[in-house]
Parts: sequence; C-alpha cells; structure tokens
Amino acid sequence: MRVASARRSVPPEGRDLAAGALVEFGLRCNSCGAPYPSVGAQEILTCTYCGTTQRMVDARQFLDHFTAQVTAYLRQTIPPGAEVGAGGTVDATARLAAFNTSVRPGLAVESDQYRFALFNLLAAPFAVLPFLAPRPPPAPVSAAAISMFVAKVQSVGPLAVDEASREMTLRATGLASAYQSLIVTADLLRGTKPERFHLAAENLTNASAAVGSLRRWAPVAGRLEALALQARAADQVAGGRPEEARPLLGSAGSKLAEAGGLLSATPEIGFMSTPVEQELALVRALGSMAAIVSDSAPVSPHPLVYLQRLGATLDGLAQALPGDWGAGYRAPFRWEEILARASEARRAQAGLGAVRSVAYGGGILVPFWEVELPYNFETGVLWTKKGREVSERLLIAATFPTDPANLAGPGVYRPLTDVFALGRGATGSGRFYDRMTGKEQKISESGSLAALLQSATPTSIAGRPAAPPLTSRHEALKLVRAYLNEVRAAHPKLAAQLRTSSPRVLDLVYVPCTVPGSPPVPGLGALSPLSVGDPQALLGLAS
Ligand SMILES: [Zn+2]
Repeated sequence: MRVASARRSVPPEGRDLAAGALVEFGLRCNSCGAPYPSVGAQEILTCTYCGTTQRMVDARQFLDHFTAQVTAYLRQTIPPGAEVGAGGTVDATARLAAFNTSVRPGLAVESDQYRFALFNLLAAPFAVLPFLAPRPPPAPVSAAAISMFVAKVQSVGPLAVDEASREMTLRATGLASAYQSLIVTADLLRGTKPERFHLAAENLTNASAAVGSLRRWAPVAGRLEALALQARAADQVAGGRPEEARPLLGSAGSKLAEAGGLLSATPEIGFMSTPVEQELALVRALGSMAAIVSDSAPVSPHPLVYLQRLGATLDGLAQALPGDWGAGYRAPFRWEEILARASEARRAQAGLGAVRSVAYGGGILVPFWEVELPYNFETGVLWTKKGREVSERLLIAATFPTDPANLAGPGVYRPLTDVFALGRGATGSGRFYDRMTGKEQKISESGSLAALLQSATPTSIAGRPAAPPLTSRHEALKLVRAYLNEVRAAHPKLAAQLRTSSPRVLDLVYVPCTVPGSPPVPGLGALSPLSVGDPQALLGLAS
C-alpha cells in the first residue's frame, strides 16, 4: 500500500490540536484504502490496487471520513501541549514521554493483532493459480480499516524520537501495510475480475516492499516477491501466452526455494517454510498449465477450455466429496501431480510424446492405476494346511471420484477389476477338492487382465480422445484398502483365508473405454469395472 502521499501539515507554533486537523491526505479508494496516485477532473475513479470503480463524490466523502477518524485519534491520544507537528516547541523528552504514555499501549495492542493476522494468513500457501480457485477465507477486517491504522501510526510519527519507538512505528506500519495488501489480493482471488492476476501481482509486490525493510522479515519479502512473479505468470497463462509465463515461473521458483531455505533458519517465522513448499508445488502446477497451453493447441477441447473444465472438475470434487476425499482436492501437491499427468497426456494426444496405453479398441482413452496386490492365503485342512503367496494385479479407473457412488460402502467395487468376485464365482467340485488337499493356487481371478496389461506399451495417442487422471496414487491406494475391507466384511470365509496384503500403486495405463457404456471396458470382458466415473465429466475433458 502507498502511504507516502500522506502529507503532514506543520502547525503554527503553539497551536493546539483541538484547533483542527493536523494531517491531510490525498484521495483514496473507499474499498481498499489505497491512495490514488494522481487525480484529475474525472468523475469516475478506478483503483489500481483492487480494481474498484467509484465516483469522485464518493471518494471525497471517504476522504472526509478518513481524515476525521485520524484527527479524532490524535485528539484522543495526544495530551494537550504535546503537539505532533515537527515545528512544535515541545522538546524531545516531552515528546518521548507522550509517546510512551499515550501512544505506545494502544499501538502495541493493535499492531500485535495485525502481526498475528499476517502470520495466520502466511501460514497457508498464498500462491495464485488460474482456473483453480485457492479460495482464501475472507479477512475479519477490511483493507480500508487497516489503511486508517497505518495513517494513525504515521500521524504520531513525530513523537517517536528515540530508536525504540521509531522501530516500533516502522514495524507497525510495515506489517499492517503488508497485511492490507494481502487482504486485497485474497479478495481479488475470490472474485472473477479478468485483471485480477495483474492486480494481485501489484499488491504482492507492495506487500513485499512493506516488510522488506523490517529486520528478520527479509525472507518473507523474498517469498512475497516470488508470489508476485507467479501471479504475473498466472496472468500470462490465463491470457494464452505461455512463452511469457515461463521465465517468470523460473524466477518465481528459484526465489521461493531461496526464501524457503532462509525461512526455515529464522526463528519466529520458520513455520512459513511449510507453506513455501506447497507454493513451490503450485509454481510447478502452473508450469504444467503453461505446457498444456503451449503444447496441445490442436487437441480438442482448446487448451484454455480444457484447463477451465479441469479446474472446475477439481474444484467441484473439493466441494462435493465427503471428508478426506474432498480435502485431498484442496492440496497443492495433488494439483501438481494431476496437472503434470494431464500435461503428459495432452502432449501425447498432440503427437509430441507417449503414454503407456493399450493399443486395441475404440472409444475414449481412460487412465487406470495399475496396482500390485500381493497377498498370502491359507489353503488345505489339517495336515494339508499351507500358506501360499500370490501376486495379483488390479486396475482402478483414475477418474473414479467423479461418480461419488464409487467412494463408499459396496460402491468401491465399481471402479476396479474386482478380482476376488471372480475368484468367489469359480466354485465347483474341483475348487473344493483343491482346497481340501491344499492344491488351491490362488483365491482371486484376473482373467484377461494379464494379457491386456502385456499389450500396454508407451504409445503416441495422437488424434485420440483421452481423459486425464483425476486422482493421484494416494487416492488409488485408499480405494484399494476400502475395497479389501469391503471384501473381508462381506465374505468371512474369504477373510479367514486371506492373510496379509500390502498393495502398491505402480503406474498409469490408458485403456480404451466406451463412455457411456456397459461394460465401460470391453477389453476386460467380465472383469470390466462397472464405472469409470461420471460420463459427462469425462466427455467434457476428452472432446
Ligand atoms: Zn482499491
């Protein structure tokens, strides 16, 4: 925020405070409190910090209110005779005494509130991404109110005549100004103004400058400067200019990494190294967005439409899914992973790379997680009893959470190859005999899956419609565990045989699917999952 335009008038010698306002200010924005750099005769003013438009008459009214508030503060706080004008006759000792008794206590309380609020805000990642809304929570105080606090502190500046009180006022104005700028940034990011990334960058630059001169806050200034660069990069990506985003992202990444290192070694603000790690993930996520825009222009849907739909899908999952599932979609590391995979698939669709995919079959290519599922089971009775080890494979549709029915209860069977269902189905006299004599080789059945996986190789999928994965390994593992619990709960006999299991998610494989269709994965026959997610969501991203 800009405070330099606050002009302090010099009162005539001996003039009492009560005689009138001792401070004058220029016109300022009634929404965020930032001053207008220069104002001509225009009727409508647009703030260059928050983008709010207001009438001149409203800006004048706000200025009157602002000045009255600061003047009232001065009257209440400063004892008669200890006037704040630099030309006053009161000596330094008296000024300092006035500062210590009348100004310091209230200033310390309010300044601490802003310092904690700033800590609180910066304890979470504050990076700017287009298409995905980070949704910072609304601040408990308005930016305009903070600008008033800053003006009050500056108005009592002439009383701060020793080192300690000067440092206190500088610290108070620096931290409050930074907080003000970050509140404006957060408000912009909650909105939809097309110029919001550009304005966010301006505010982040101001926030960086406001804390830059404060002792021990230099690493925070570095962090905010890096975030300003990222906001500029976001502006370029959202505008379809990925080449211009790249150098900005490079600088943002190295500045953030440097700030993270310094932060972790600084007491009081060391906790910020954790959100900085997440911000680095968001820089990389934005890098993947830039790659999607630059590398997949000929792929349908258009890259910017694709990113918009992908962002809306992930935002939708964050809001609609219950508990842990939804929380995962608010994590920067999840966005980073999904966007990196999406970029890989779009490149392969544009003929620039390859993804592991099954060659045969038509329809939409849907990504599946290949999971290794080793288990032990006990077979035989009495003296034939023995344990066997089996290494089974599972496929899980990496798009499964788009249908919430796939997440809970017996629904967890639907998006995967239910290998134990087929195993249970293969009962007959032969199977019974095998079990009695301990010749049973496995209690699961994966049918045509092995052949399908064998045919999957890194392939160009140029010109083919493909959906991106909407999960990471983390969700895949979570679903396998839920599946095994369901299997155990529903089939006590199988549970008694099935000893241990520690599934491992291997990699993605793209499989041709019929969307919508039943079964959706014709290549797997009876083993086909029942659901690969919401067909509308998949079709929107694939074509
Ligand atoms: Zn404004």
